[in-house]
Order: sequence, then structure tokens, then C-alpha cells
Amino acid sequence: MKTIYFDHAATTAVDPRVFAEMEPYFVERYGNPSEIHRLGREGREAVDKGRAQVAAALGAADKEIVFTSGGTEADNLALSGYLQRFEPGHLIVSAIEHPAVMETARFLMRQGWEASFASVDHDGVVDLDAYEAAFRPDTRLASVMFANNVVGTVQPIKELARIAHAHGAAFHTDAVQAVGAMPIDVAELGVDLLSLSGHKLYGPKGIGALFIKRGTRVGPILHGGGHERRLRSGTENVPGIVGLGAALSIAVADLPTEGPRLVALRDRLTAGLIAAIDDTIALGHPTERLPGNVCVSVAYIEGESMVLQLDGKGIAVSSGSACASGSLEPSHVILGMGYRAEEAHGSVRLTLGRENTQDEADYFLEVFPPIVARLREMSPLYVKR
Ligand code: PLP
Repeated sequence: MKTIYFDHAATTAVDPRVFAEMEPYFVERYGNPSEIHRLGREGREAVDKGRAQVAAALGAADKEIVFTSGGTEADNLALSGYLQRFEPGHLIVSAIEHPAVMETARFLMRQGWEASFASVDHDGVVDLDAYEAAFRPDTRLASVMFANNVVGTVQPIKELARIAHAHGAAFHTDAVQAVGAMPIDVAELGVDLLSLSGHKLYGPKGIGALFIKRGTRVGPILHGGGHERRLRSGTENVPGIVGLGAALSIAVADLPTEGPRLVALRDRLTAGLIAAIDDTIALGHPTERLPGNVCVSVAYIEGESMVLQLDGKGIAVSSGSACASGSLEPSHVILGMGYRAEEAHGSVRLTLGRENTQDEADYFLEVFPPIVARLREMSPLYVKR
């Protein structure tokens, strides 16, 4: 049975065109880019090309891109790497960050930093007044994710960066879910630091990058041979870098057609779900959201049971709580938006991607309502209307 895959926010398959570009760098062109012989030079050229592709996709300069092992490391480098030259002071992160930022902020708090967690409204948008009020004279950095991985809400990044700068702080955004899914120009946004990850955009796992605006002083969090202009030691993941560059080039080229196609599919699915199943609410901002993110809360039943039932039908989706591996905790994102724990527990997330079709969306709308009806019949909480 072919899986209908609606979990692109968790990860994506490597695009065959991307894989074809990566393949030679495993077996034939395996040189270490630090070596000056032919194989080494080939590796260096591949790294340089990948960096140029990533930079071009973001409107950045090549020198502003540092490769990392993924989004998590890019976030850690942004926060810990940027703050390490200061005496412990204050930082701001939003209340709905991915654990890669949230746990780094908590780590920094254990090192003596104070953190404010900027609240969000019911749609998941950062409350600009509360955010601005959180700045202090010793606030060094604000970090707000570009687009949320659970509910898909996209933040007003340009404004958030402007406010941070007005208060003398630098601004980082975790754009892991947004890069490749929507147009991004770092200069136009005015961000100082931006994280991205290969496996969310049809590239390989284990590769990511941090954009560091020229003049922004970041120190390393990994120490060793001084690779990546001393910012990220460790022999470069050449096939990964080749894959990230290729994947991002394809994603950016496809955006003008793929973006609107996914928006139409997303809105059709959301409207279909709300119409077919009573006591169901759409989560996240209705329009300022990722093109492929459908997130709903279905009352009286658990997200995990819906995920498992759909899996039985060959459909891969995620529950709203699936941001941490295997966690059954209600999502801090949905709770942070002011929903009750039951509402958070009943959430399902469909994240659409390149290979998804209208037929798949229609099939989903056909099989899902009877699954909900059956689960509700078994639920002691459900009272039939
Ligand atoms: N940030 C966000 C918003 C994410 O969705 C993810 C992945 O789920 C990450 C960071 C972590 O990225 P990676 O898996 O490349 O470490």
C-alpha cells in the first residue's frame, strides 16, 4: 500500500534530482575539502557551490552562510554562539518556539541568563506590545520562529526584527519550517541570524545552515580544526551540503507555482474537515500560515488515536503534540495560544508537500470523518448532538 504522506513538517523524502547530485560525493568524490590534492579540491568546490546556492536562495552573501548538522545545531549556534561574548544578561524568545530554541534558552538560563517568553494570541501570532515591553537595557538577543511547526502560523518577522534593533538587541529567527516554503530575503527582513534545515525541503537529514549577517559576531560552540571560518569545526558533510544547495535551489525555483497550489489544497482540506466533522476547530492563523499546514482540533478524542487509525488506512499525519519525539504531552504551542489541554490533545496536523494531489486530499476527506465518528463512539467524553 502506498503511503499518502501528509507529514512534510516532520521530514521530507530526498528529491531524486537532489539525490542524483549527492551520490558521486559518497563514493567517487570523497575528498576532504581541507586537502589541496585533486579530490580535496573537488570537495572544496562542491562546498563552495552549495554555499553559493544557499546564499542565493536567501539573498545573502556566501560568507554569511555557515553549515551545521541541521536546524537544531543552527539554533544552538545562533543563541549560545551569539551570546557567549556577553556577560549574562537577558534574552527574549517566543512562547511557542521549537525545543531547539526553547531548550537552548533554558540551558542559557542555567548559565545565568534571564529569559522572557513572549506570549502569542489565539492565532499564534506574537503579541507585539508584550514583546516590545519585554526588552530591557541588557537584552542582547530576541529569537522568534519564522513559522510554527505545529500550527503553521507565520510571524511578522520584519517588525519583530525592527523592534529588537530599536532596543539594541540582535534578532534571530528559526526559519526551519519556512525556508523553501515561502520567499525569504534576509536583507529585506533585516534579521541578523536565521536557521534552516535540509530535510524539511526535500534535501538530506543531518545538514542545515545558519545565516549570520556580516558584522554579527558569533563564537563557535563546537571546537576543533577551525572549519567554516572557525565557526563550526568538523570535516564538512560534503554530500549533505551538495544536497542542501540543490534542494534549496529547486524549492525556490518551484515556489511561484508550488506555493499557491499548496495553499489551495490546504484551504480545501481545512474547510472540508470543518464542514464534515462537528466540534472541530482550525488552529493557527487563517491566512498568515505556512502554505502546506492544516491543523485542527477535534473535540472528545485524542490526536494519537486519530494518527494511528489513519496510519491503518495508509495515511501519515501527525498529532499536534508530536513536536518532541514520542511525547504525549499536550503541545506547549497550542496551550500557549490559550486553548485548553483537551483541545491540544485532540489536535491533528497535516503538512502537505510536493507529491500530494487533490485526489489524496479528497480521499482523506472521505476516510477521516468515519474514523472520528467511530472514535467518538468509544469516547466517554462524547455526547452525541
Ligand atoms: N526548528 C523547527 C521549527 C523545526 O520544525 C525543527 C524540526 O522539526 C527543527 C528546528 C530542528 O531541525 P533539525 O531536525 O534539522 O535539527
